[in-house]
Amino acid sequence: MNTIEVQVKGIVQGVGFRPFVYRLAKTYKLTGKVWNTSSGVEILISGEQQALDGFLEELHTTPPPLARIDDISISPSSKSFFSGFEILESQSDPNSFMPISPDICICEDCRTELFDPNDRRYRYPFINCTNCGPRLTIIHNIPYDRPQTTMSVFPMCEDCLEEYSDPENRRFHAQPIACPVCGPKIAFISQGESVEGEEGLAKARRFLREGKIIAVKGLGGYHIACDAANISAVTSLIERKHRSDKPLALMSFNEHTINKYCTISANESLLLNSIQHPIVLLEKKANNDLPEILATRQKNLGFMLPYTPLHLLLLEPGENFPEVLVMTSGNLSEEPIAYEDSDATLRLSPLADGFLTHNREIRTRADDSVVSSVNNRTYFYRRSRGYAPDAIKLPFELPEVIGCGAELKNTFCLTKNNYAFVSHHIGDLENFETLHAYESGIKHYQNLFRVTPEIVAIDTHPDYLSTKFGLDYASSRDIPVRQIQHHHAHLASCLADNSWDSPEPVIGCIFDGTGYGEDGHIWGGEFLLGSYTGFSRELHLREVPLPGGDSSIRNPSKIGIAYLLDAGLLDDRDLQPFEVYTRSQIEVLQQQITQKINTPLTSSMGRLFDAVSSILGIRQKVTYEAQAAIELEYFCNPSENGRYKIELDTEGIDTRTIIRSIVNDFHMGKDLGVISGRFHNTIAYLCLEASKIIASKTKVQNIGLSGGVWQNRTLLKKTIPLLENNGFSVLLHNQVPANDGGISLGQVAVAAKQTHK
Ligand code: ZN
Ligand code: ZN
Ligand code: FE
Repeated sequence: MNTIEVQVKGIVQGVGFRPFVYRLAKTYKLTGKVWNTSSGVEILISGEQQALDGFLEELHTTPPPLARIDDISISPSSKSFFSGFEILESQSDPNSFMPISPDICICEDCRTELFDPNDRRYRYPFINCTNCGPRLTIIHNIPYDRPQTTMSVFPMCEDCLEEYSDPENRRFHAQPIACPVCGPKIAFISQGESVEGEEGLAKARRFLREGKIIAVKGLGGYHIACDAANISAVTSLIERKHRSDKPLALMSFNEHTINKYCTISANESLLLNSIQHPIVLLEKKANNDLPEILATRQKNLGFMLPYTPLHLLLLEPGENFPEVLVMTSGNLSEEPIAYEDSDATLRLSPLADGFLTHNREIRTRADDSVVSSVNNRTYFYRRSRGYAPDAIKLPFELPEVIGCGAELKNTFCLTKNNYAFVSHHIGDLENFETLHAYESGIKHYQNLFRVTPEIVAIDTHPDYLSTKFGLDYASSRDIPVRQIQHHHAHLASCLADNSWDSPEPVIGCIFDGTGYGEDGHIWGGEFLLGSYTGFSRELHLREVPLPGGDSSIRNPSKIGIAYLLDAGLLDDRDLQPFEVYTRSQIEVLQQQITQKINTPLTSSMGRLFDAVSSILGIRQKVTYEAQAAIELEYFCNPSENGRYKIELDTEGIDTRTIIRSIVNDFHMGKDLGVISGRFHNTIAYLCLEASKIIASKTKVQNIGLSGGVWQNRTLLKKTIPLLENNGFSVLLHNQVPANDGGISLGQVAVAAKQTHK
């Protein structure tokens, strides 16, 4: 007889790991015990060596579906002779940590029970088990046990307790376990009247059928929902949400229904049905009859499948019941999504005719994640529910660092060992509520992951609230700060995302909206050469003076004029952007530029897209970020092969020739699709030409593509093969977004590597 001690690290709590160990031990007739610690699971186990070997083999190869084993360490133990096999209570150690599982969509078993009239949880909106259900959104603290979640206020009934205590049961230690007798309840509230249970659900469905707008409390916050095919419902929803053209997320009961409106590739189907159930951007079918205003001038619709039992019940097919629901975040355009009941009632009442709500508290806000499929891999637009706070594993050890992130699409990041915990999507920090969510989120993650940062990593932009937060944070704790240039952080984010661990430099093709440059100018069309520890700026777009700087972002017409003036096309007054302004307004703009009054120079690729969109008359004023560029992409004719001449020297990349060629084509009456197509081709070739120049003197063949402009899939799909066919190897984002949502990951990687230099 031998006894061994086994320590398992990774995602091993709240995923049925201990019962799995228990059953395995029984199968091999082993004795001992298993328990959760703050850093994972520990097993003390005795038996014949052959049986122990079999046990260890299966421990490695057949863990429960949601478990992720990062490390197993085995050591001989002098203890022995246990009788039976026990699962012990959790033990908390204040200094160790372990990853926490994100929220998981309802599993097949629970779904079957939900619709089984003989099951005691038939149609119960909070059915869950160890393989599914809420996690991050309900956790107050670790170890992950019911008293440390928002389920602590629901004492288990006898039946639930029995299931919870039975290692052979699928719900053994399922912390959010609940049933109609003991668990949370739903209610539908409208005009001061509250209706509970099935009746409430039926009323909510009636509201939707009748074209009304309702708020729905979900996993990580509230949605605003209505019938997506009902044009007047959708129109009034958009009006109530402050008239943004931002596309609305959609939900259907099953994939078959989604397929009526969009094409779905094999990988997109995997994404839709993955345990995360994100919003997947899918190409609209030509004949789809959903209202255009759901996603104005977009090639794609963002669809997701129901991921909680409540969503399944709400969307269940029925006579005259809508096949597609709008399920957009419960907020006004720029605010964070509402997740607390009192706040939701206050903020969403003007938006919703009724509230489908429940009494399980949401601890942490989590927006729906948004992904697409690029080269059959996941490509993120927003990484949040279902993914956060999964750790991103880095190929090197890090000190404990906090990366404060950028200003827009903010996430923060904390590190421990070789893990980077990139937060859920926080949002745009310029908003007071978001800043509050940011600060409390940081506190929460520090506590959950037992991180005490030794280094603070921030952007170099002096006005970002995340920069100011980081400076205060560091000075109040007397720890060092590292300021990391925005596009260097993008490059490092792309490297970290690809588990890059070589000191060799990489070409960073960073196409972005804005970022504070080392010279105080606004950068964003950058070819960098560098690694985690440093970079050089090899090539960039010609700098153009931008009247009003970043404030012009809402008015592409202003940007269009700036680029036209820069290209010497001042007299071309019949172009669209000029029509937006009076003669004297244009003169003022001109003076502003010549006298350099509040006209920072920008080399931003995002602004070049804005300018072209404006010059072609596509978009002069935007209601959401990157709208002008997205609509320019929408018009792109995929079969267009032409491109414009690129003038490129060590001084920079001359955007004037591109602008002049575009204006020329425009005057010749060329179709928008052709011009947009040629422009996209030009930028893809620009990427190749610039990379070739850098490669010719450095022999570097690895290129990282990062920055918000790389959310443009048309551009991405043109650029990748072009680079690869010319011998370059392309690093794409795969775990965090290419946009500023990935900045915090880059910041921690740079800060860590620079410190360990
Ligand atoms: Zn389940
Ligand atoms: Zn119960
Ligand atoms: Fe950026």
